[in-house]
Amino acid sequence: MAAKLIKGTEIREQILEEITAEVAEIKEKHGVVPGLVTILVGENPASISYVTLKIKTAHRVGFNEIQDSQSEDLSEEALLGLIDKYNNDDAINGILVQLPLPKHIDDKKVLNAIDPDKDVDGFHPVNVGRLMIGGDEVKFPPCTPAGIQEMIVRAGVETSGAEVVVVGRSNIVGKPIANMMLQKGPGANSTVTIVHTRTQDLAAHCKRADILIVAAGVPGLVKPEWIKPGSCVIDVGVNRVGEKISEKTGKKIAILSGDVDFDAAKEIAGYITPVPGGVGPMTITMLMKNTLKSLKFKLGIA
Ligand code: NAP
Repeated sequence: MAAKLIKGTEIREQILEEITAEVAEIKEKHGVVPGLVTILVGENPASISYVTLKIKTAHRVGFNEIQDSQSEDLSEEALLGLIDKYNNDDAINGILVQLPLPKHIDDKKVLNAIDPDKDVDGFHPVNVGRLMIGGDEVKFPPCTPAGIQEMIVRAGVETSGAEVVVVGRSNIVGKPIANMMLQKGPGANSTVTIVHTRTQDLAAHCKRADILIVAAGVPGLVKPEWIKPGSCVIDVGVNRVGEKISEKTGKKIAILSGDVDFDAAKEIAGYITPVPGGVGPMTITMLMKNTLKSLKFKLGIA
């Protein structure tokens, strides 16, 4: 294999250790720890397992974590009331509303009600604007793109002057990571192209990428011949392509695959992320980082 594997599982451990040490230091100096609340409405099994992992991670790094579970029939007004309560709670630095919400609740209205200074997911229009301006304006970069940038930087890949091609233009991955990579500053300064379903020659764009970030949700979309030899390939895609029995638990689990033909691509690229174990573990990690940052902004030590 030619490529160096960029393992999200390993980088996650480093970052969580850094966060744990910083939380302990702040606790000693200032007598406070970051407070994170997760609001879960209903009992969607995927949401429950995701929230459970967030809680476990928050406890591990020493946060005060509150899980606020509400029944499926909670009204929109009541949910907005809860958000208002946490917006005004001094012990809370980050507010997360787990999506999807039940159909009778307007997601946009709810997410926009979160105080932008506690919006650790980074999806509030104010934080999207701050990200676009860049530099010191940025408070909470959205977690998956922030994780991608962190992986590129920690792997030692040069971004300044690099041709970055992003496949996908979603608001949660494609657009923000493209914006982050073109900013003036460390870990960025790249020349960025975004491609999507209306792009005329996807292959030609991918072939000139020094850093290829693929977030399409289409298994095997990126062919090995589209990869520039020695380039860095970040595969964000998480696609269920089958089922198998887990050796650990004996239960049925999904077989996951990315958007890149990994086995062939790893022989051509210089760096590559696996799926699973690549970008996936970085999202919750960066959520912890944003929550810690929120407390640091409040204490004036960020
Ligand atoms: P999304 O909202 O469905 O957006 C997909 C984007 O890819 C769209 O912009 C779409 O173009 C483009 N696209 C789809 N098929 C394409 C094709 N054949 N050629 C060129 N462009 C194509 O998806 P998303 O939310 O960004 O997620 C993308 C993938 O990343 C998914 O597999 C998701 O599960 C995964 N993901 C992983 C993490 C994580 O690991 N932590 C987090 C978020 C997402 P159009 O705009 O033209 O339709």
